[in-house]
Amino acid sequence: MEDCLFCKIVAGDIPADIVYQDADVTAFRDINPAAPTHILVIPNKHIAAINEASAEDQALLGKLLLVANQIAEQEGLAEDGFRYVINTGGHGGQTVFHIHLHILGGRQMDWPPG
Ligand code: AMP
Ligand code: ZN
Repeated sequence: MEDCLFCKIVAGDIPADIVYQDADVTAFRDINPAAPTHILVIPNKHIAAINEASAEDQALLGKLLLVANQIAEQEGLAEDGFRYVINTGGHGGQTVFHIHLHILGGRQMDWPPG
């Protein structure tokens, strides 16, 4: 999608600190980290929000989670734990309308979230 920031990162048109990329999924460090480790995992395919995904995206979304698990392990987060977040829509706090899974780790997380 032409005007999407994260599509531009996938395409390499905007620089990012990419930690993982394959034909389906890209992961990069959040530019404004909310935790010592803060990585965004996104499908290369433009889908605006998680609740706009369809049945044909089932395998892609499964892969997104499995890649995230692999990254969490590589980043040394698995032992102490970490948090996955998918902000969705206005009340969810979504600001970039291309699905992204936040991996947050390296500190104790609070509950309930703000
Ligand atoms: P959300 O509020 O869930 O839509 O999250 C969007 C996230 O994208 C925020 O945590 C931003 O800091 C992050 N972000 C925005 N622009 C960039 C960028 N160019 N590179 C990396 N992360 C970004
Ligand atoms: Zn996009």
